Amino acid sequence: MANAAPIPFDNSYARLPAHFHAAANPTPVSEPWLIKLNRPLAEALGLNADALEREGAAIFSGNVIPEGAEPLGMAYSGHQFGQFVPLLGDGRAILLGEVIGKDGVRRDIQLKGAGKTPYSRRGDGRAALGPVLREYIVSEAMFALGIPTTRALAAVVTGEPVYRERVLPGGVITRVAASHIRVGTFQFLAARGDTEGLKVLADHVIDRHYPELKGSERPYLALLEAVIERQAFLIARWLCVGFIHGVMNTDNCAVSGETIDFGPCAFLDAYDPAKVFSSIDQGGRYAYASQPAIGRWNMARLAETLLPLLDPDPSEAVNLANDAIAGYGLRFQNHWLAGMKEKIGLYAEEDGDLDLVQGLLSAMHRNEADFTLTFRRLCDAAESSANDGPLRELFGNAADIDTWLLAWRERTGRETLPDTQTAAAMRSVNPAFIPRNHRIEQAIRAAEDDGDFSLFEALNDVLAKPYEEQPAFAAYATPPAPSEEVLRTFCGT
Ligand code: AMP
Ligand code: MG
Repeated sequence: MANAAPIPFDNSYARLPAHFHAAANPTPVSEPWLIKLNRPLAEALGLNADALEREGAAIFSGNVIPEGAEPLGMAYSGHQFGQFVPLLGDGRAILLGEVIGKDGVRRDIQLKGAGKTPYSRRGDGRAALGPVLREYIVSEAMFALGIPTTRALAAVVTGEPVYRERVLPGGVITRVAASHIRVGTFQFLAARGDTEGLKVLADHVIDRHYPELKGSERPYLALLEAVIERQAFLIARWLCVGFIHGVMNTDNCAVSGETIDFGPCAFLDAYDPAKVFSSIDQGGRYAYASQPAIGRWNMARLAETLLPLLDPDPSEAVNLANDAIAGYGLRFQNHWLAGMKEKIGLYAEEDGDLDLVQGLLSAMHRNEADFTLTFRRLCDAAESSANDGPLRELFGNAADIDTWLLAWRERTGRETLPDTQTAAAMRSVNPAFIPRNHRIEQAIRAAEDDGDFSLFEALNDVLAKPYEEQPAFAAYATPPAPSEEVLRTFCGT
């Protein structure tokens, strides 16, 4: 195929043993059109954004394979809703290769929706436009919120239909990730009893994501602990912004600690710890407040795969793994409490802090208060009690929040920062704007039904600065009207 805009590929995964992956060329499409190139990301990766803009439709649809790309699907297994599936793999994603960004970090460039691979099973290897736009919006919003995440480099429409419950326009998203190595990638090798392969993969992950662990006395135990730490941190960060991943299967859990595989994900509007949006999560396994425990469960699955590397004595290996897993709870709790304390402007350590945080969440739950607006309006209340009005309006029973505000002011009275500075610090961790489900839905509807991408563009613009006030976009900060509310989200696979 023709040589296109240069992407300076430097591939390492393709060099790993042959059974880790399978060659997979994208299947060309008839009429690709570039919806969006993420220029700032392209530049951060050291790519020529102008050239990519010109050639984007061809490259990001998979019609042209840039020089240096070695397209492949990665093999992995996974526990899906608790059931082990020995072979999944990239069924609709094709890794073009890796680039080293201006920051010196190696990242994958992957096309999702570019056609069948040897792992497609009965799937068509395609993605519908809706899920492409959803992943683009939400992954970039997560980045702007400061949460570890894969990113979106480009989105295209293919000009071809995909067949789901109904006929939908097809799309391809180009995803950038620290890597696409998952807990399920380790499970793939463990399930085959391939201890040598596990060691190769673990060394690759250490090199790539945890180089500081090289030369540790027990590098694979250190790796397990480091992945656990990043996972505990990540899930704490999700909870602090009201994010529900929706499908935290072990194949959707990246060992880099990035959020990956944005399927039926959604953000809370009204606070409800038991909230589930995903149509396929009937038991609520991946409900908002179940995520910390599921993170631990997924880490236990990772630990199992590493047992043969932890110690030659199997019972000692189990002990080491158990200790590492046992550490997850405290790691999560510390990150979560630190995050929640910042959200309410607490910086010193006091015994009652956890209760104070829980007290606010309980009042929010009882009153179905909007998660994002509550914390954002609390920033104004931190500046002066004269600003309490808009916050109180979120609580059907205002006495509930009044009682809490009294206790909060008593506690924050012992903090040292001046009120205006506290408010500013709180605004830097409590977003005004999150990708609200109804706004995503409206953007997808306009794109799918009318070929109108203006809402998609506007949403990306406003979400790029989630902590800024942006009065022109005030409507994007508010919860859905009852008629706009999204009750269910779908994988779109
Ligand atoms: P996901 O729900 O995106 O995490 O995907 C779970 C598994 O199903 C992965 O192995 C995917 O590659 C595969 N898969 C999902 N959708 C498709 C599709 N349209 N064609 C082929 N494989 C798919
Ligand atoms: Mg997946």
